[in-house]
Amino acid sequence: MYRCWIVKLTPNARFSTICLHAGQEPDPSTGAIITPIYQTATYVQDELGKHKGFEYGRTQNPTRMAVERNIAAIEGGRAGFAFASGMAAIGAIATLLKAGDHVVVSDNTYGGTFRLFDKVLTRCQLSFSYVDTSRLEDVERTFTPSTRMLFVETPTNPLMRLTDLREAASLAHRRHVRLVVDNTLASPYVQRPIDFGADIVMHSTTKYLNGHSDSVGGIVIATRDDDIEWLQFVQNAEGAILGPFDSWLVLRGTKTLPLRMIQHNANGLALAEFLAGHPKVRRVYYPGLPLHPQYELAKRQMRGFGGMLTFDLGSFDAARRLLNGVRLHALAESLGGVETLISHPATMTHASVPADRRAALGITDGLVRISVGIEDIEDLKEDLTQALDKV
Ligand SMILES: *Cc1c(COP(=O)(O)O)cnc(C)c1O
Repeated sequence: MYRCWIVKLTPNARFSTICLHAGQEPDPSTGAIITPIYQTATYVQDELGKHKGFEYGRTQNPTRMAVERNIAAIEGGRAGFAFASGMAAIGAIATLLKAGDHVVVSDNTYGGTFRLFDKVLTRCQLSFSYVDTSRLEDVERTFTPSTRMLFVETPTNPLMRLTDLREAASLAHRRHVRLVVDNTLASPYVQRPIDFGADIVMHSTTKYLNGHSDSVGGIVIATRDDDIEWLQFVQNAEGAILGPFDSWLVLRGTKTLPLRMIQHNANGLALAEFLAGHPKVRRVYYPGLPLHPQYELAKRQMRGFGGMLTFDLGSFDAARRLLNGVRLHALAESLGGVETLISHPATMTHASVPADRRAALGITDGLVRISVGIEDIEDLKEDLTQALDKV
């Protein structure tokens, strides 16, 4: 199948080489080394009933198809489908379900995912159970004969709870349930869920894959023939495709994914250790700290511990003083870009989660989340030091 075609790398090509080259080859008409932005709505056909494999821009676009092949190879999957946003990607995954089906979801899932499931898809007679997927015995208890999908995020945002992907996959497969992993927070450098048995991986490419805070997009990577066939059909049928320019930006982003992630990992660990030793910080949530309850699992399942960390200052007032006091850290939602972002989960990223649910999950008003960028770590520490002085 054309979709599954991956540029002629040797079968044992390593991760950085795959990131740079997979899915791309020099432009056949000019030799341009970079895949051009094919900014076109349609394609002229040679004669009636004869074309070059490209009919219409929603259905096929060479720039989009290159980024789809590239990220499919990066995740170790068989085919990729790029969408206009991460939420559109999750919406496409949901079309694998039918009325009456049941889904088990990580309780501390991304706020927008909860909103889509709870406010939109329940209208289509789909049902969702939210459980702490770090406790697989609870997951198993939540399965019903109608369960068709286990939708997992690991680490979760903002509390950095992990799910054992290998165990989750084997549990799901024993029940003929698909394991879907939202791998946005970790990035495929840090963790490749398909290696542990996941059937489908999705990303908000807005985050680490594009990595430069200048594009919104999503991608679904599939492994099963039936899923690949359906997702390809639905991408065209619903039409929420990633445009050519954004596809090009993401393709540019993945070339430096390994280099960026090495720095995100290093800065994330250094900042987590710094905060853990600061007297005004009550608790740090970061899977790379030996105090994290799932540190051993993190070492098994992740390569480095990522660039996301959360800490508790004890009160809304303390969090407000810090957030208003930082200078280099940018107060903003989103994550995974080269510049460091700082945010207040309770009133920003998780505002769409009802207050009682936030309380049950442990998303308190004193929590602050950092998406650590690739700046010099000493500048980040200095900025936090001066801002913590105001708390
Ligand atoms: C941002 C994000 C999404 C949604 O992606 P968009 O590109 O904003 O639509 C989904 N899951 C996670 C974990 C995210 O961080």
